[in-house]
Amino acid sequence: LQSLLKDPALLETRAYIGGTWVEADDGARFDVTNPARGDVIARVADVTRSETARAIACAETAQKDWAARTGKERAAILRRWFELMMACQADLATILTAEMGKPLAEAKAEIAYGASFIEWFSEEAKRIYGETIPGHQPDKRLTVIRQPVGVVGSITPWNFPNAMITRKAAPAMAAGCSFVARPAAETPLSALALAVLAERAGIPAGVFSVVTSSRASDIGKEFCENPIMRKLTFTGSTEVGRILLRQAAGQVMKCSMELGGNAPFIVFDDADLDAAVQGAILCKFRNNGQTCVCANRIYVQAGVYEAFAGKLAAAVAKLNVGDGLEAGTDLGPLISEEALRKVEEHLADATARGAQVIHGGARHGNGGTYFEPTILTGATPDMKFSTEETFGPLAPLFRFETEEEAIALANDTIFGLASYFYARDIGRVHRVGEALEYGIVGINTGLISTEVAPFGGIKQSGLGREGSRHGIEDFLEMKYMCLAI
Ligand code: ADP
Repeated sequence: LQSLLKDPALLETRAYIGGTWVEADDGARFDVTNPARGDVIARVADVTRSETARAIACAETAQKDWAARTGKERAAILRRWFELMMACQADLATILTAEMGKPLAEAKAEIAYGASFIEWFSEEAKRIYGETIPGHQPDKRLTVIRQPVGVVGSITPWNFPNAMITRKAAPAMAAGCSFVARPAAETPLSALALAVLAERAGIPAGVFSVVTSSRASDIGKEFCENPIMRKLTFTGSTEVGRILLRQAAGQVMKCSMELGGNAPFIVFDDADLDAAVQGAILCKFRNNGQTCVCANRIYVQAGVYEAFAGKLAAAVAKLNVGDGLEAGTDLGPLISEEALRKVEEHLADATARGAQVIHGGARHGNGGTYFEPTILTGATPDMKFSTEETFGPLAPLFRFETEEEAIALANDTIFGLASYFYARDIGRVHRVGEALEYGIVGINTGLISTEVAPFGGIKQSGLGREGSRHGIEDFLEMKYMCLAI
């Protein structure tokens, strides 16, 4: 891997704590493998609660000085971090693909997307406005200021090893918080590369630390139980989100949660079918179906069902499955054998209940954790993917008759992150957009993520929003001052 990089120093395997690169106290390391080939590409420091506590203590010291700087000073440093990321985009993407498996073009796009949050929130650092409120009594002057919450811990998944961290770190640090990141054990190298660049950008020691560890629940406990910690920000499954919320209740810690989804993708009779097919390809197969906003259930109105299925199958047949580092790859491997088994389980359950495979339907000839992009027709609400996220390249097509039916089916889930629909009737566009119980609605598009808009879910998909001018709110406390004159 090192030989593929222009700047090999980006490939770091030690943890970054309080501005110092460190091994685990006991020297332990864990393996990072390339899912495309199954080979070990790095052995990374495996830290425990005690090193994590040290990172939190350093973060506490550093935060005071960081918060005391002007927004403009913090902005300038964050801006440099953004610029360094973009200058190293190709190398960061290579590291990301090697540890995670997504195609290089998608990895490059993720780096640009991840960096865009640092750019955006560096700008927002200067706009943390307060408020003055007309007094409730003649001698009273009321002001509201907004201050950083303090030390923030993040726990992030492997599917976006760069952007899930910057989406949290950028608003936190812009607000004046310090930040301790615990990346997924599958993908620590992208997080460490970010720390290399944070150091080069001049981010003060302790403001941004990365604790790499294979012991997720230990680090989660330290984050929740350490009394210095003021906030936990998490992206991952609803199941783990619930555990962390329970743990964080112990000290009534602020929490932001970006949890699972079960995105519906609805194609109405009046849709532009070719556009809907394109949108479905992007939305279903990006990152091999391993994003929390990937379409999980595709509902197609009866009048266009056969036509849509045929066009989708033709488009999917053109997708190339392979090693993400090789040119021309559209779909990489799945992250793990476990992920592969979940796809197989959902597929077997659906076919046993009467669904038909019209494309794919098996492990890919490449072996390892590769799976063929698969389309099923005849999907019904009793099948597992109706209630659970598949997180893989399986596209089940459900048939529906009326708009009301589609809305009811789409909303029949505990999740509420992203949803999509294709329609051209303007009345329907408004009706359906308003009726979908989701934090995000893509209308005639399958791609909705951008740093300028608020990303987040309702129901059991989460708490809080990331990105946009609202994204910084979760890292600020309001203080009301009442002055008698
Ligand atoms: P995914 O399916 O994306 O891996 P998870 O919710 O299982 O979603 O994991 C998201 C992140 O949370 C990962 O970094 C994982 O290591 C971490 N994690 C899993 N269980 C716990 C836990 N009990 N406490 C803290 N972190 C956890």
